[in-house]
Amino acid sequence: MDYKKNIDKVLYDRDILAARVVEVGRQIRADYAGKDLVAVTVLKGAFVFAADLIRAIDLPMAVDFAEIISYGEGAEIAEEVVLTKDVAVNVKGRDVLVVEDIIDTGLTTSFLVDHLRIREPRSIHICALLYKPAMQRVEVPLRYVCFEVGDVFAVGYGLDYAGQYRNLPDIVTLKEIPPEE
Ligand code: 5GP
Ligand code: MG
Repeated sequence: MDYKKNIDKVLYDRDILAARVVEVGRQIRADYAGKDLVAVTVLKGAFVFAADLIRAIDLPMAVDFAEIISYGEGAEIAEEVVLTKDVAVNVKGRDVLVVEDIIDTGLTTSFLVDHLRIREPRSIHICALLYKPAMQRVEVPLRYVCFEVGDVFAVGYGLDYAGQYRNLPDIVTLKEIPPEE
């Protein structure tokens, strides 16, 4: 079975992704020089993006991971969000940069930001690979965005559909999209 047969369009190919990630990495480097940077990558969707992004930030930094699982329909405010892996590093007094795959409604990221704020970081900002401004429901401290997208369902470069397609080097849309996203 060829899983690639379900690919519809390429939204951002590997070259565009690589160039934009380097650009954002340089911006982060300029903003965080002299700070105590801790990059917190949100699993699983952001792991490929984060691997490229951190190598584009030429600064001393710590890296850690958190995993969040959201249940329920993407469009519903009553979505249930569960933290399945917490950060291990102490973020108190440090400059946290949350590395996210997508800010859609913002609910998932908002949950993590609230959770991390309890540990009293000096600052907390978000760097997202994709941002869907039309879908946003809650405010989040979004500081860096690689690409703004409309109401599409994107997969590849770490993003999945039903656990698949994370290994695609490009960000694409699918012919058969999930019913609720
Ligand atoms: P939010 O809580 O911001 O609505 O949800 C964001 C999460 O929903 C993302 O971290 C991602 O896991 C999932 N999501 C939202 N839009 C997309 C999309 O276009 N493609 C994929 N693969 N996941 C998405
Ligand atoms: Mg996510």
